[in-house]
Amino acid sequence: MENVLQGLEPTRVWHYFAKICTIPHPSKKEEKMVKYLLEFGKKLNLETITDEVGNVVIRKQATSGYENKPWVALQSHIDMVCEKTADSNHNFDTDPIVPRIDGEWVKATNTTLGADDGIGVATQLALLEASDIEHGPIECLFTVDEETGLTGAFALKPEMLKSRILINLDSEDEGEIFIGCAGGRDTTGTRKFSFEPAPSGTKALEITVSGLKGGHSGDDIQKGLGNANKILGRALWEIANKTNMSLATIDGGNLRNAIARDAVATILVPTEKEAEIIDYIEKFNNTVALELKVTDSGVKVAIKPAAIPTQVIDNKTTSDLFNLIYAMPHGVIAWAQDIEGFVETSTNLASIKISNNTIIVATSQRSSVESAKENINNMAAAVFRLAGFEYTQGDGYPGWTPNPKSAILDITVQQFEKQFGSKPVVRAIHAGLECGLFSEKIPGMDMVSFGPTLRGVHSPDEKLLIPTVSRFYQLVIDVLQNV
Ligand SMILES: [Zn+2]
Repeated sequence: MENVLQGLEPTRVWHYFAKICTIPHPSKKEEKMVKYLLEFGKKLNLETITDEVGNVVIRKQATSGYENKPWVALQSHIDMVCEKTADSNHNFDTDPIVPRIDGEWVKATNTTLGADDGIGVATQLALLEASDIEHGPIECLFTVDEETGLTGAFALKPEMLKSRILINLDSEDEGEIFIGCAGGRDTTGTRKFSFEPAPSGTKALEITVSGLKGGHSGDDIQKGLGNANKILGRALWEIANKTNMSLATIDGGNLRNAIARDAVATILVPTEKEAEIIDYIEKFNNTVALELKVTDSGVKVAIKPAAIPTQVIDNKTTSDLFNLIYAMPHGVIAWAQDIEGFVETSTNLASIKISNNTIIVATSQRSSVESAKENINNMAAAVFRLAGFEYTQGDGYPGWTPNPKSAILDITVQQFEKQFGSKPVVRAIHAGLECGLFSEKIPGMDMVSFGPTLRGVHSPDEKLLIPTVSRFYQLVIDVLQNV
């Protein structure tokens, strides 16, 4: 196949990027890439090691005059997200990605491009091969399965790396340097209940919360978006204060990492109270609409008559559940003290489900500070305990605490300013990155993450902005020469 990327600068980076496109490398199926990397290292006579999950490290000694520099690790992930257009019959296990140039961008043909993180991999290979670039000792770490489980980062043995400085090449915006991410862990509460016959002299009403935007429980948590579970829980708690009531069903939210958009419950109230409760929900709808007029102008809390169920959840469980939903925190818990506008700790009341005779309430916590993550995990656990629920906590994954005083950050910012004549944006994200695991395994590892500009990652629209690649490559070299 003709290489349409031939002629783009820096030629060796694009050469390797084109090569990577020809090697299938879906997440969890990276063995062809691993084989290629091992042969690459061997061919260049570079120390090359791998581990049982397929992570690869290739080491290159310092060039003359740079022997006293410290080891620096450059890191990328070798798997890619496989998405294609509805009409594409591309087979990611066997077919090459077909890159094409579209104006200033490189795109694939009806598929993801895999520039996330193939451009990081290509950069490492070009540097390992180069004989005309001066640098200290470098080791290139290639991890597997970043996209669907952080498998490589989880399995990495600290002995694989000599470096105590690491540059992660998996960011997507020229001009931004990342210095932190959040860790996460789930806390799930369960409680068994008994069914009771539906009380007589009652009317059934269905209350729904809808029209919310929802969003990612990490990236969007600072937006103050409405959570359907919290809104429904508040309404139910208030209704239970007004009258004897029973709960027949409840269901809200779905994914652990999403802010709940919909929730619904069916309740029974005494016939003589029906009009009052309908009236209350209409007023409550206006209250919520007012509170969320900026973030969720479409929110709707509705109430309508429903068929009388034969059985309801026992009273004690119902009352404890309402207290639980109302008391369970949701949203931003703490802002970082040293990075303006960065969420340090948050929690998401993700879902409320009934399965047979058990209520399952799923919550998920994030923080870039490990102890703060544990603290908010336990706060959720304490609320479950108060409400008579049992709870379990997942293994989770660690965060990467931002260090605005980091030496490698200082050097990266200086070299960026030298090249671009402007200041980069230094930021952290409130979601998971491989660096969180590296910082846990190798305490004191000094890290930054940056990359060229990508758009539409994880979709068939994925594209890589050509001119940012040479500037990115140059920045990596400048940083290496100045550590
Ligand atoms: Zn990536």
